[in-house]
Amino acid sequence: MLGQMQDHPLLISTLIDFAARHHHEAQIVSRRVEGDLHRYTYADAAKRSRRVANALDRLGVAFGDRVATLAWNGYRHLELYFGITGSGRVVHTINPRLLPEQIAWIANHAEDQVVCFDMTFLPIVKGIWSHCKTVKHWVALCDADKLPADTGIANLVSYEALLAAEAETYDWPQFDERSAAALCYTSGTTGNPKGALYSHRSTMLHAFAGALPDSLGVSARDSILPVVPMFHVNAWGIPYGAAMTGAKLVFPGAALDGKSVYELMESEQVTMAAGVPTVWLGLLNHMAQHGLKFSTMKRTVIGGSACPPAMIKTFHDDFGVTVVHAWGMTEMSPLGTVNTLKQHQLALPVEQQLDIMAKQGRAVFGVEMKIVDPDGNELPWDGQHSGDLLVKGPWIISSYFKGEGGDPLVDGWFPTGDVAAIDADGFLQITDRSKDVIKSGGEWISSIDVENIAMAHPAVAMAACIAVPHPKWDERPLLVVMKKPGAQATAADILAHFEGRIAKWQIPDDVAFVDAIPLGATGKMQKNKLREQFKGHALPGA
Ligand code: AMP
Repeated sequence: MLGQMQDHPLLISTLIDFAARHHHEAQIVSRRVEGDLHRYTYADAAKRSRRVANALDRLGVAFGDRVATLAWNGYRHLELYFGITGSGRVVHTINPRLLPEQIAWIANHAEDQVVCFDMTFLPIVKGIWSHCKTVKHWVALCDADKLPADTGIANLVSYEALLAAEAETYDWPQFDERSAAALCYTSGTTGNPKGALYSHRSTMLHAFAGALPDSLGVSARDSILPVVPMFHVNAWGIPYGAAMTGAKLVFPGAALDGKSVYELMESEQVTMAAGVPTVWLGLLNHMAQHGLKFSTMKRTVIGGSACPPAMIKTFHDDFGVTVVHAWGMTEMSPLGTVNTLKQHQLALPVEQQLDIMAKQGRAVFGVEMKIVDPDGNELPWDGQHSGDLLVKGPWIISSYFKGEGGDPLVDGWFPTGDVAAIDADGFLQITDRSKDVIKSGGEWISSIDVENIAMAHPAVAMAACIAVPHPKWDERPLLVVMKKPGAQATAADILAHFEGRIAKWQIPDDVAFVDAIPLGATGKMQKNKLREQFKGHALPGA
């Protein structure tokens, strides 16, 4: 017997319609590449999203075709999110920090029909447009009079000219909720990147889950600053969750330095922010240097790489802000786990709470997870055993775009490539990326544990722990350190800081100082590059 409830497909168009109807006055504020602050409402965003849909009809873009963006976080990007998906096309967010040839490769692989780009990326587009075989239209996200005449790019139009010709009414089509909605390529440190293709259903369920109080906890009382880019895993789903709840959105555009971010947080009364750990370093430095405090900020979601406990403590002790540590992947839309304390943990002393908050958090409803040994046997949730982490759920990948790489699943589970432990309360702790694991004399050393300790040293701005070949132990840890500007510390000073904080055999054998640690296109440390650079490093006593 079937239930007797109405059967409406879960479609992204319903989000922007809901926001326009129930939160028409809620604001969307964007720092534009033009330099000024743009301000409008969900009602305005909905109208312009419909103009986008009309424009795509006029350009002859078919249902399911890919429309790419190369853009910062801003209101035009938001309109594209809704206009493209709502009308049944697929929004393909491309990471502009990739090399131009990678961008062209991705656009060709995705068979993009249209590419919409911020003017910052005009030089990239000039270099690649003739190599992008399927792209029929290039849309510059600017006013008609800001479009230079002599770009040489064929079929180039300004976004504002395109929209001006369209009506702001549009009947969103109804279709199967399992239809593709958005495409995002993984960063792919080895081999070509692979596409994760999200559906309307997966995006909507992810938005519901993301808005839950023990998840990102998004509400109509929030003013949210997503520093996490809309070109990487849908800015962790925040644009969709914000429309679902009517939260105010504050977009930083290209100005991601500490001063610009701080000023925006204060002027727009931001209550919640989200981003990778590296972006907060600049903000915290700026605030410490100028003795600044927040007036409205309550929490910041940090994920994408392990958030150093020292950063969690600084936010808590110095600025009264709760860090919500989260873990996920492009292949997971991305939310997997989020760190919010359980009731029985509220009575614990603050230091113990901070220790728990340094873990990657508990599974969001909808995500199942397990850890297994090398033979695939499930390991206990005791916080001690660590093994390969596998996940499954309705917003987790089943196969890559165009079937690249074959079937990624193992008995229906997606192997994350992360190594983790899970404690009895269900808190996940990532110890490593499996390819970053350091194996010394048959024992694992967690590079994240070592880095977290290093980051608590006052002279250390950033630290990466990598394996270096060793004649006796196979591998030993080397700590690569970028010092804070003007800070003084020797290798011996930094190694002394490890005494008593970690088992002796887990302490790195040496410290190498560098001017900068290479970061990938999504802000993660590129340890493969460091391993290459330091593979011949002579460890003391080796
Ligand atoms: P991406 O798909 O590029 O977002 O990368 C996903 C990977 O980033 C995960 O598999 C983890 O290795 C890493 N990652 C994401 N969040 C965290 C976190 N909070 N702590 C440690 N690693 C993380």
